[in-house]
Amino acid sequence: MAIIPDSSPLRVHSAALSDTGKHRGNNEDAYIADPALGLFAVADGMGGHAGGEVASQLAIALLKEAAARAPDAAYLQSPSVAHRRALLGWLAQTVEAINEALLERARQDRKLHGMGCTLDVALVRAGGLFLAHVGDSRTYLLRGGVLRQVTEDHTLGQGLLSAGVLSAEDVARHPQRNVLTRALGPFPAVQVDTSFLELAAGDLFLLCSDGLHGEVSDEGIQRLLLGARERAAPPLVQAALDGGGRDNVTVVVLGVAQCPAERPSLIGSQRARDALAQSPLFRRLTEAELLRVQKIAVVQEVAAGAAVVGPDLPADALYVVVDGELSVHREEVSVGVLRCGDPFGSMALVEAPSDVVVRAETPARLLSFPLAEVRELFVTDPVLAAKLARGALERTAERLARVSATLARYRKAAKALAALG
Ligand code: CA
Repeated sequence: MAIIPDSSPLRVHSAALSDTGKHRGNNEDAYIADPALGLFAVADGMGGHAGGEVASQLAIALLKEAAARAPDAAYLQSPSVAHRRALLGWLAQTVEAINEALLERARQDRKLHGMGCTLDVALVRAGGLFLAHVGDSRTYLLRGGVLRQVTEDHTLGQGLLSAGVLSAEDVARHPQRNVLTRALGPFPAVQVDTSFLELAAGDLFLLCSDGLHGEVSDEGIQRLLLGARERAAPPLVQAALDGGGRDNVTVVVLGVAQCPAERPSLIGSQRARDALAQSPLFRRLTEAELLRVQKIAVVQEVAAGAAVVGPDLPADALYVVVDGELSVHREEVSVGVLRCGDPFGSMALVEAPSDVVVRAETPARLLSFPLAEVRELFVTDPVLAAKLARGALERTAERLARVSATLARYRKAAKALAALG
């Protein structure tokens, strides 16, 4: 079965390179870059003896085997959010199964005890990129000339930073900042980060081991990708060697030449990220979390004059405005305007009929989060769930504070009136 048929408006190409570096005796990194399978991945092995090599190579081999029979038919037929979630769920389960396979292999061979690896996977299907991530290898996206890291390192330092426990300066000084908090192989269970992005023509994705990002700054990576584009693999590896080459270095560069034009490439974009970051609900989320939450989002285009929320419409989604302007009406009276970043709909994250009407004043684009998907996300991503719940509570508290301030003003006015009378 061809994943990306020749007639498809989606065309991707890739290049990959791996180097042992200047100080290591062997290369414990492994990778795959297979446009026909729509599969791109980097694994960085660790563990004494041959453990690291065995772990990363086994992970990539198992991944390749799994990708060839990915249950993608439903998504390819209709790229709905439910089909997207099913494929992301399968990808996470596949990575969990690889974790179990590594554990089992180490159980059988004492020399391999404690082996493990990181894993970054990009699975491309019909204009969408399905991402899974464990460890400190990274995935970057270069779009519109700007480089973004779309994964978050599973290291002690990044964990303390994301939780808001330490500042960036404190983390930079922390002696254990680079200690891995998640990996495949060492533990019976693993939490897999998954995200989804809509591809756009001209996108350039980079998957790499820490042998690259440990030696070359993000600015350096951006400069080389901008300059050499799809041919950036050799100069990137050379830059890591010039920077010291203290570790194995592996890069997979994936370029999107052509994309289905009718698809709005909003999910995973900077525009969507900026809209969410402005929103009180999402403001506590890190960059990677802002991306992760979009995997359950649906793009909704609304014509001017159309209603999105109302007493007669289903109240089963939370919305965030990306483009355009909408008005809020209560009993035919306009009570507010919604613009980029403003959330509305099922704000309390429960389904309840709305007593207001929200109507588009101009053509608008929204990110819609179906409540059924939000509930699923809360189960699979507890960190994200806690931050979203906190955002919702803070917003409710702010609203209550505004209401009680208004009430206090009315009481004062009433008292003044009574004194006059
Ligand atoms: Ca490494």
